[in-house]
Amino acid sequence: MNPAPVPERLLLGPGPSPVPQRVLQAMASPVLGHLDPAFLAVMDETMTLLRQAFLTVNNLTIPVSGTGSGGMEAAVMNLVEPGTRIVVVTAGYFGERIAEMARRAGAEVVTVPAPWGHPADLKAVEDAVRGTGARVLAAVHVETSTGVLQPLPPLVEIAHRHGAFLLVDAVTSLGGVELRVDDWGVDLLYSATQKCLNAPPGLAPLTANDRVREAIAGRTTRVLSWYFDLSLLSTYWGAERVYHHTAPISSVYALREALRIVHEEGLEARWARHRATAAMLWDGLEEMGLTPFVAQEHRAPTLTTITVPEGVDDGAVRRRLLQDYSIEIAGGFGPLKGRVFRVGLMGAGSTSRIVLTFLGALRESLRAEGWRPGRRAA
Ligand SMILES: *Cc1c(COP(=O)(O)O)cnc(C)c1O
Repeated sequence: MNPAPVPERLLLGPGPSPVPQRVLQAMASPVLGHLDPAFLAVMDETMTLLRQAFLTVNNLTIPVSGTGSGGMEAAVMNLVEPGTRIVVVTAGYFGERIAEMARRAGAEVVTVPAPWGHPADLKAVEDAVRGTGARVLAAVHVETSTGVLQPLPPLVEIAHRHGAFLLVDAVTSLGGVELRVDDWGVDLLYSATQKCLNAPPGLAPLTANDRVREAIAGRTTRVLSWYFDLSLLSTYWGAERVYHHTAPISSVYALREALRIVHEEGLEARWARHRATAAMLWDGLEEMGLTPFVAQEHRAPTLTTITVPEGVDDGAVRRRLLQDYSIEIAGGFGPLKGRVFRVGLMGAGSTSRIVLTFLGALRESLRAEGWRPGRRAA
């Protein structure tokens, strides 16, 4: 059999995002033993770089082995015991996934739904947390299913006012959107490598403050998942270096290199670039007569949902983008199935050149499917 024929794609979907050559090259470094002093140094550097990316001094800041959902499962399983009351903002698919994991862990789950395309209603959130004995409030920073940015500081305030921890999914925000773990007071947060960090999928950066660590240490039941038990994981990533599982060596190399790129650019510059590129995309769409699905003030710069024009088959347009231009975007799902395109501008994928390329390819693909541009302006 021949090597797999892998085409060159421009990845503008909800992840994975484009992986720079430097990151691919780092992955090709020799595999070391997972307790080799040289690899332990790589681990330490990776944790340092991660703390800088999260803007935290949290000791427990590690890449969990697994994709973003692994980070989610680690966060939920460690903070939740059977009967724990957790309030989950469900304003899209990933919020619902958190709720489902918590249910499986035996938690008493209260959801605060918001219509897809809208952020949470803060009053409804506070009502669900206030005086109910809720131990955890969970929310998604950028809901990749809808393209909504959920501001975190008001949620931190609500959670802490009522003695709850704030658990955050920052999968589509870390490295692309302003995120300040310590300044804002987020207690437990996870992300993933293949979105705004531009490493391949496979690791889930996670950070937990000392209050969370104490809460985990004080559990009356053992964490249901052995693999994601953060106390065990911190003895491997911490000073003790106790074997727990074999770290995915090459993925750690890739993450380290991806984080080096983030820090060469600088977090603030990176956030500004994502905002500027997204604004260019939104302007270009509106000039063409297309409509972003989410109201401007709630849009995330890393993931844009575009309303599929009347009479256009969204799947046919996406197939053309892939076949004729080698560009990947995604469709909607759940309530947004067939109603939106989802376009990710993440990390290395967030440049003005890519936006112009994408707008041209989208216009041609829509035209080929019978749509005529600029109808809104007419
Ligand atoms: C992609 C994504 C996940 C899940 O990550 P996987 O790597 O697919 O497991 C979780 N939350 C959000 C917001 C995501 O965009």
